Amino acid sequence: MWLRLKNKIPYLILMALVLAAVFVWSRVLAQTPENLVKIDFLDVGQGSAILVNAPNGNQVLIDGGPSDAVLAELGEELPIYDKKIELIILTHPDSDHLSGLIEVLKRYEVGQILETGIADSSAEYKEWNGLIEQKKIPVIFASAGQNIAIADNLAIKILYPLGKINGQDFSKNTNATSIVGKIIYGQNAILFTGDAEEQTEKILQMVGTDVRADILVVGHHGSKTSTSVEFLSAVAPLSVIIQVGANNRYGHPTTEVLERLKNFNIFRTDLDKDINFSCDLAKCALAR
Ligand SMILES: [Zn+2]
Repeated sequence: MWLRLKNKIPYLILMALVLAAVFVWSRVLAQTPENLVKIDFLDVGQGSAILVNAPNGNQVLIDGGPSDAVLAELGEELPIYDKKIELIILTHPDSDHLSGLIEVLKRYEVGQILETGIADSSAEYKEWNGLIEQKKIPVIFASAGQNIAIADNLAIKILYPLGKINGQDFSKNTNATSIVGKIIYGQNAILFTGDAEEQTEKILQMVGTDVRADILVVGHHGSKTSTSVEFLSAVAPLSVIIQVGANNRYGHPTTEVLERLKNFNIFRTDLDKDINFSCDLAKCALAR
């Protein structure tokens, strides 16, 4: 008996070593390298979805696109054991930003939600609010000045709306309610604007908001009613991102906006698919 077991000892040790190596490598491969924040502008078709992946394993998802396409994207970007998204931001409840988030709420654990909480009668928005209630997810109503810490040196700063607007009815002019904010990591600033239009851009400039950013996510998928020349020169980005579906029926991005953007590095989800940036404390660079 002892002899038989003794013969097996080398194999048992070898097996234990192999298992330990597999475990260590799976952790190494699954983890974002230390201090790098990944910001992924997801290709979800005609809509918008941005995933921020912090080195401490926290994630922020800003909008979810028009369908469950976001689920496949999250499956690719998140480690297999990570089923929690720490913060979801809904810029405004239009379906090209909201629909995907409903699917995310059904399948992921969500730490908290930041939204405007405006009144809107769509069936999807009802479902969204129902799920939040059912899952008892804490909600923060957006208001300029909020600064939400995500990880060391990483925060989301809210720039718009200027005050809370929850419960208010904007008679379908939901673009004017869109949350505008910055992802701030070290020296980097990434400005997201949802579907905010010139009206919001003007207000931000009027109240003296610091809109400067290294990366600008172009408002309303490149509609001509957003991204005014004045706003663009105030933001002064190095790169601009357009989240847009190929051959969409709105003609986004418009030739007018592309003309205004011609001196910038333009990335488009309809042409470039997923756009992945990796940021250290000093700068962001295209990851792949
Ligand atoms: Zn939109």
